[in-house]
Amino acid sequence: MEKVIIIGSGCAGLTAAIYTARANLEPIVLTGVMPGGLLTTTSIVENYPGFVKGIDGTELMMEMQQQAERFGAKIRFGSTVESIDFSRQPLRLTVDGEELETQTVIIASGAGHRHLGLESEAKLEKKGVTYCATCDGALPMFREQPLVVVGGGDSACEEANYLTRFASKVYLVHRRDELRASKIMAERTLANDKIEPVWYSEVTEVLDVEQDKVTGVKLRNNQSGEESALDCAGLFIAIGHVPNTELFRGVVDMDDAGYILPQCGQATNVAGVFVAGDCSDRVYRQAITAAGQGCAAAIDAERYLASLN
Ligand code: NAP
Repeated sequence: MEKVIIIGSGCAGLTAAIYTARANLEPIVLTGVMPGGLLTTTSIVENYPGFVKGIDGTELMMEMQQQAERFGAKIRFGSTVESIDFSRQPLRLTVDGEELETQTVIIASGAGHRHLGLESEAKLEKKGVTYCATCDGALPMFREQPLVVVGGGDSACEEANYLTRFASKVYLVHRRDELRASKIMAERTLANDKIEPVWYSEVTEVLDVEQDKVTGVKLRNNQSGEESALDCAGLFIAIGHVPNTELFRGVVDMDDAGYILPQCGQATNVAGVFVAGDCSDRVYRQAITAAGQGCAAAIDAERYLASLN
């Protein structure tokens, strides 16, 4: 039987792995289909402390993985959990057809960016289509260029405001004529001279006149049906996140949107099950906060195991 199984290999999961491995708990890390998590979908990470010149997202995750392995963590690449039985100890997980038994589980399954679902969006990801202004906004390709942000919530407003530091102009494309964002954020956004709202509009296609590089977006006004195009060097999609927690629904307490609710520290309502990172964080969603929660979950799991003896 295992002592610790960690579901997910982003910042939260790998930090939990480093801590539990150093505590000689020989954790198993199930990477899921995206080893390294969301950070591997961005290019340079400039806000993770300790890297003066920034670090490539994939490289940062490789370093964390090797650090965890150095202390004895066992990484199972591509492994996904098919089903769980947390109704009694030991906890059981079916992974790639195999049943694993463990005393503790750390859920660090992350969250995905909600996508528009366009073919051209997928094709141009990392080539001007991005889901994180704090990660990518300062890249040279976006400097002094017109940019488009999609969404009307706090994230979209925050991203639009942030991008005005670099862009020549930011178009905020929203499907209604009222922002969902908090009042103060909405007011600040609409008062910013560099931000132009484009109401009742939906992006129907991302354009790449120069091959493999975003050059604009096609819009449709959802009131008049009118179609138009907007030149831009980047499309920042900020239409919310989707926590990867479906597997735990009905077992582990979560809110209506599917974010797992820790009860005490990083412990969930199920004895021996802990949580960390974006699957339980709808507010901060930063690499460094996920890493911090991974550390806390590992310490909580270690103390829980010690309490069983
Ligand atoms: P959100 O509040 O759920 O807003 C998502 C926005 O995207 C909404 O305006 C929504 O339009 C739009 N949208 C959703 N699906 C869409 C689609 N398929 N096509 C086009 N538009 C779509 O998400 P969020 O902005 O990421 O915020 C999540 C939570 O974090 C919120 O509680 C927020 O307050 C919080 N947050 C806080 C801060 C802060 O305080 N500094 C910063 C960021 C986030 P509709 O409005 O029409 O539904």
